[in-house]
Amino acid sequence: MKTLGLLGGMSWESTAIYYRLINEIVRERAGGLHSARLLLWSFDFDEIAARQHAGDWAGASAMLCEAARKLEAAGAEGLVICTNTMHKLAGEVQAVVGVPLIHIADATAAAMKNAGVSRPILLATRFTMEQDFYTGRLKDRHAIEAVVPDPAGREVIHRIIYEELVRGIVSKSSKAALLEEVERLRSSSAVDGLIMGCTEITMLIGAADFDIPVFDTTGIHAEAAAEFALQ
Ligand code: GLU
Repeated sequence: MKTLGLLGGMSWESTAIYYRLINEIVRERAGGLHSARLLLWSFDFDEIAARQHAGDWAGASAMLCEAARKLEAAGAEGLVICTNTMHKLAGEVQAVVGVPLIHIADATAAAMKNAGVSRPILLATRFTMEQDFYTGRLKDRHAIEAVVPDPAGREVIHRIIYEELVRGIVSKSSKAALLEEVERLRSSSAVDGLIMGCTEITMLIGAADFDIPVFDTTGIHAEAAAEFALQ
């Protein structure tokens, strides 16, 4: 079994979910007492979020690249960035290591292609919904056209992520707000699925809340990582 290096703590609420899922999948597939070989670099999220919101992506990149190098030096054979947003820096991180990075958007795209989904709603941070690194990759590499909420909707989701979910706060009113946003998008555009494109969103909503195919990036990415480790 290969050793995975997790770049986590962004936030630790979702890294904890990754940790559990990767171990559960390895136990289920490998049987016995098997569990995943993991190295975890867990950032202080305050330092990351401050750089994100100041637009200091170079500073954030330096932090991720340094951690990635250290994980590789410690024995990681594959890297997992445990957040959608920080895949903005995936290319830079991949460039400083010699081991593969398991990309969250590619894993999610593969799941959508299997399900025949090509026009999903994307719920995520403003960075992921508004910048090109995620929607552009889905479109250019996978011919998947993500549909994002309007500016007011994007603001609501971003606020729920940074003021609640990454702090461990799960509220009924925020769940209702996300469901309402999805309904609004479904009534105004032709969509055929939903990407939970932030690794904490799984704390609030899930497939059971919808009657369209739902793609939980945390679960999909954890599964891709476990499969890589078991290859
Ligand atoms: N974990 C979140 C994501 O998947 C948001 C926090 C972050 O910016 O890393 O995008």
